[in-house]
Amino acid sequence: MTQDSFIASFTVEDLRFPTSLTGDGTDANNRECDYSAAYCTLRTNLGEVGYGLTFTIGRGNDIVCAAVEQVAGKLMNMKTAELFSAAGLGRMWNYLLSDPQLRWIGPEKGVIHIATAAVVNAVWDMYARHLKKPLWQVVAEFTPEEFVAATTFRYITDMITPEEALALLKEKEAGKAERLAKLKAEGYPAYTTSVGWFGYPDEKVARLTREAIAQGFNHFKMKVGADVAMDQRRLALIRSIIDDPKECEGRPVPSAESLVGKNAGPTGSVLMIDSNQVWDVREAIDYVKALKDANPWFIEEPTAPDDILGHAEIRKQLKPYKIGVATGEHAHNRMVFKQLLAAKAIDVCQIDSCRLAGVNEILGVLLMAAKKGVPVCPHAGGVGLTNYVVHLSIIDYLCVSGTKERNVLEYVDHLHEHFTNPPSINSHGYYNIPSDPTEGYSIGMHEASKAAYVYPNGSYWTNDHAAARLVAIKNGYIKP
Ligand SMILES: [Mg+2]
Repeated sequence: MTQDSFIASFTVEDLRFPTSLTGDGTDANNRECDYSAAYCTLRTNLGEVGYGLTFTIGRGNDIVCAAVEQVAGKLMNMKTAELFSAAGLGRMWNYLLSDPQLRWIGPEKGVIHIATAAVVNAVWDMYARHLKKPLWQVVAEFTPEEFVAATTFRYITDMITPEEALALLKEKEAGKAERLAKLKAEGYPAYTTSVGWFGYPDEKVARLTREAIAQGFNHFKMKVGADVAMDQRRLALIRSIIDDPKECEGRPVPSAESLVGKNAGPTGSVLMIDSNQVWDVREAIDYVKALKDANPWFIEEPTAPDDILGHAEIRKQLKPYKIGVATGEHAHNRMVFKQLLAAKAIDVCQIDSCRLAGVNEILGVLLMAAKKGVPVCPHAGGVGLTNYVVHLSIIDYLCVSGTKERNVLEYVDHLHEHFTNPPSINSHGYYNIPSDPTEGYSIGMHEASKAAYVYPNGSYWTNDHAAARLVAIKNGYIKP
């Protein structure tokens, strides 16, 4: 009985995967990523569970875990009857975010905010598991009023009020059933970042690009920013493959509508570039101009993530070259998105499932982006992010923006084997729609994986070959 159920315990695990050994996930700013998760498990007295994680790239994951403990502790003894509704989830978010002492070490940014994401996402996961529906379906079945009740509006009502959101959501009710049918038939469009990590040699980039075409992808992203000549060479290499009709033979032909404004090549292939914040504003403009021959759709994270006006300036200066600006994976709260949208600083809005404090805050950003007509193309990758974001994009398509024509969701093919319900793509390079009624927010992990990679005492980290590496990581000496 729900009435008797309450949150009785939680665990937090520091999970780290040695991805720096392969160069996976490397970019101009992050050359030694050990993909990591601060993993939170909530349990009720009746044995129900909820899983949530937040993503880091290694050192400091223990600090985030300590913050997750602080936030999760606030839920102890809370009755699930108070949590398990749209309004209850809305109140839960406000409650977790209004602790004055924890707020002081943010507010709503940094370690405390990403830690809050792990806990908030765990509560949503528990609710979805409780209802025996994947998370996207739980939200898609909310009435517009319930959707609004679950959404965080604090500090963004100057861009969108709950009343405006309600009107927008009601308008999108029409056609929802048709969109769901289309989604189930087609999947959700995706792009791949896996071909062009910074640390990959040219041969590997070429091989992975061909493999991505064979998987059905027509959007590709490459990491740039350390060396113009190298970037020009690698971009020309990718373009030479993705623009070659022979290389793309048999790949599904993308619709003209899906390519509008994306600088697609003759085969309908789109190329994007990502510099992971490496430049100052002027530097970004000059550097990207030097890459214009590759015809990228957008430059992602050209400069510091907090520099809203800098992004606006870069967008303005690159407009004559038809190169757009995308950012958001390090936008630390909804207020940054509000400003990016208000300043017309972005062409593409890249929410992150763990940088923002969970589903409630993300719903607010989806609503603002829809109001401003900016497509949402979430950041994925890392460990677990790919699992999460497919739910968010589905919610955006079904309930909020009502379109997926120009959207593409990042797909990164790493570490999926550790999850009980890993994300997957179909033969057209589209995300499959999560459909297991027991998967919640799709972030459950195999116990064996957790036992192996929990840090520093998991079996991977205590075996012989990892021992020296462990010392190196602790001391910050590790080099990919
Ligand atoms: Mg990125």
